[in-house]
Amino acid sequence: MSGTIMITGSNRGIGLEMCRQFAADGWRVLACCRDLPNASELRSLRGQYPNLRLFQLDVTDYAHMAALAKALQGEPIDILLNNAGYYGPKGVSFGHVDRDEWRRVLESNTIAPYMMAETFVDNVAASARRVIAVMSSKVGSIADNSSGGGYIYRSSKTAVNQVVKSLSIDLSERGISVIALHPGWVKTDMGGPGALISAEESVAGLKRVLLDTDLPRSGHFYNYDGGEIPW
Ligand code: NAP
Repeated sequence: MSGTIMITGSNRGIGLEMCRQFAADGWRVLACCRDLPNASELRSLRGQYPNLRLFQLDVTDYAHMAALAKALQGEPIDILLNNAGYYGPKGVSFGHVDRDEWRRVLESNTIAPYMMAETFVDNVAASARRVIAVMSSKVGSIADNSSGGGYIYRSSKTAVNQVVKSLSIDLSERGISVIALHPGWVKTDMGGPGALISAEESVAGLKRVLLDTDLPRSGHFYNYDGGEIPW
């Protein structure tokens, strides 16, 4: 059964591949990106799939987010996928933390996914599947942290995991499932060329996880291969 999926950060990397695979499967895809005029790959995908609709959205621009919700009022969204993410400076070690960058990363990776959920909750509640997913990262798992460092990105993903858990509890009454995802170490601009898997492989797995999501599986953190990751 297909439906409607909304994807943030859809102009490159994992988000773009998500658009490709869901559109190819016949889903209605609401693809959001912050610089639509320059999203050339996404725009050419639009030429291939009329079921792909493009929207300009910087996920940290909450006024614009509200305006988009108004434009989409009454439109059911089966899966709201918060994919957009920002790594910030690489190799951040103790004693070398840029506080302004830290705030920027928290805004994109932690606050924005929460605001997306709050802003589009009625669309999700009106759908058949009722799923909200957040692209987290295994490096946000406290249980998995044995190497330290990475203060900025790690903390933004740990924090968004808590957002996921609370949303899963608060929105269960409305029949909405909320999960966190780890895409694997993926060859994208963020993951770099030395990463372990392609975006195609990651998204093929994530798609299965998304389509298997229901209330009993809500409030958990899943790897792209379907395995559960400890918080
Ligand atoms: P990527 O290649 O760096 O792409 C990031 C995407 O997020 C881009 O489309 C970017 O848009 C968008 N974005 C960033 N800030 C935004 C904002 N304020 N508003 C709207 N869009 C924004 O990263 P990726 O590898 O595809 O990662 C996708 C998600 O998976 C992220 O949440 C990331 O943290 C997570 N993740 C990735 C890996 C990995 O190995 N690649 C591992 C674990 C988790 P612009 O082009 O406009 O910058």
